[in-house]
Amino acid sequence: MLGQMMNDPLLISSQIEFAAKFHSSAEVVTRTVEGPIHRSTWGEVARRSRRLANALQRMGIKPGDRVATLAWNTQRHLEVYFAVSSLGAVLHTINPRLPPEQLRYVVDHAEDVGLFFDTTFLKLAQFLALQSSPLRHYVALTDAPHLPADSGIQDLRDYESLIAPEAETFDWPALDENTASSLCYTSGTAGFPKGVLYSHRTTVLHSFAICMPDALAICAADVTLPVVPMFHVNAWGVPYAAAMTGSKLVLPGPGLDPVNLTELIETEGVTSLLGVPTVWMALLAHARAQSKRFSTVNKVVIGGSACPPNMIQAWEKEHGARVLHAWGMTEMSPVGTTGVLLPKHEQLDEAARLALKSKQGRPIFGVDLRVMDDDGAIVSHDGKTSGHLQVRGLWVAGSYYKREHDDTHLPDGWFDTGDIASIDADGYVQITDRSKDVIKSGGEWISSIDLENAAMSHPAVQHAAAIGVPHPKWQERPLLVVVKAPGKDIERAELQAFLEGRLVKWWLPDAIEFVEALPLGATGKVLKRELRTRFADYALPDAKSPGNA
Ligand code: AMP
Repeated sequence: MLGQMMNDPLLISSQIEFAAKFHSSAEVVTRTVEGPIHRSTWGEVARRSRRLANALQRMGIKPGDRVATLAWNTQRHLEVYFAVSSLGAVLHTINPRLPPEQLRYVVDHAEDVGLFFDTTFLKLAQFLALQSSPLRHYVALTDAPHLPADSGIQDLRDYESLIAPEAETFDWPALDENTASSLCYTSGTAGFPKGVLYSHRTTVLHSFAICMPDALAICAADVTLPVVPMFHVNAWGVPYAAAMTGSKLVLPGPGLDPVNLTELIETEGVTSLLGVPTVWMALLAHARAQSKRFSTVNKVVIGGSACPPNMIQAWEKEHGARVLHAWGMTEMSPVGTTGVLLPKHEQLDEAARLALKSKQGRPIFGVDLRVMDDDGAIVSHDGKTSGHLQVRGLWVAGSYYKREHDDTHLPDGWFDTGDIASIDADGYVQITDRSKDVIKSGGEWISSIDLENAAMSHPAVQHAAAIGVPHPKWQERPLLVVVKAPGKDIERAELQAFLEGRLVKWWLPDAIEFVEALPLGATGKVLKRELRTRFADYALPDAKSPGNA
């Protein structure tokens, strides 16, 4: 017997139309690429999205066509998000930090027919225009006065002139909810990037999920500032969830520096921030130097790489904000787990609470997890035994775009995340490493994340990365690469002594190197591969390690 309820498809157009109808006066504020702050509303975003949909149709964009963006977090990018997907075309957000050969690869692979770009990325658009590709429409996300002259790009148009003559009404098509909505390529730290093709259904389900109080709790009461870029994994789904809930959205445009973020937080009364740890490192250091307290911020969602415990403490103690440590990946839309505590954890002392909050959190409904050992056995949830973290769920990729026959998924329908993790009895996941980054010492694994977190808990350490370097006896031993905090100094011996109290003896680094900065990838993660290449011939000071005792 089937249920007798209405069966409306889950569509992105319904999110923007809901925003237009019930949150029309909720604000959308942008630091524009041109410079000034621009104030708008969800009602206006909806009207302009419909104008754009009319323009896209006039340009000949058809359902299923891929339309690319090279753009910051701005109102215009938001409108492209809603218009392209709601029309039944596919929004391909490109990460502008990709190396040129990968940029070219993703445009070719996706067979993009149109490109909407911020003028910041004019050179990248020019580079793409010179290649032979199916790209035939170029739109600069600006107005006529700011349209670059002599760009060399044929028929380049500016966004405002494109949408100005169009009607602000549009009948969105009644798509099948499994229609593709957007495409995002993985960061591609090894080999060429792989495309993850989201659908309307997975996007809407993920939007509902991240609004849950135990997930990212996106809601009308919040003023949400996603520093996490709209060019990677749909800014963690925030644009869609904000439209659904009518959250005021503050979009930082190209201004990701601490000075601009501070200004936006203070003038717009931001309550909720989302981003990767490296962004917060810079912002927290700036606030400290200026003796600033972000009194309006009450929630900071941190993910993309491990959040060091001292960052949780800094947000809590210096700014009175709650940190939510989250884990996920492009293939998971991206949210998988969030670090919300349970009522029983109120009894925990400060150190135990911090240790728990530093884990990656528990799965949210819609995501299932398990850990498998090297022999294919499922590991018990003891919080100690680690193995390969595998996932399945309502918004997890079923295969990669145009690689449908690759062995992405295990035969029984689980996806191997490439992360090494343990799960405890309450379901809290602790990621110890990417599987390709684990340090193998004497047949045992050393968690580089634990080592890095221990180092970063020293006030003179701003950033740290641990890599394995070859060792004649132990196969590999850890080398710790450290960036000192601004204005602080520390000697190797002092840091080594500090770590001795915090790590088991055989995890201690055999050597410490100080560097000016760590190499970061397109999404703000430390490029361990680059570090390993740089230190490939590193001579450890003493081939005799402390031993696995
Ligand atoms: P991406 O697909 O670029 O978003 O990268 C996903 C990967 O980032 C995951 O598989 C993890 O290795 C890493 N990652 C994401 N969030 C966290 C976190 N909170 N802690 C540790 N690693 C993380």
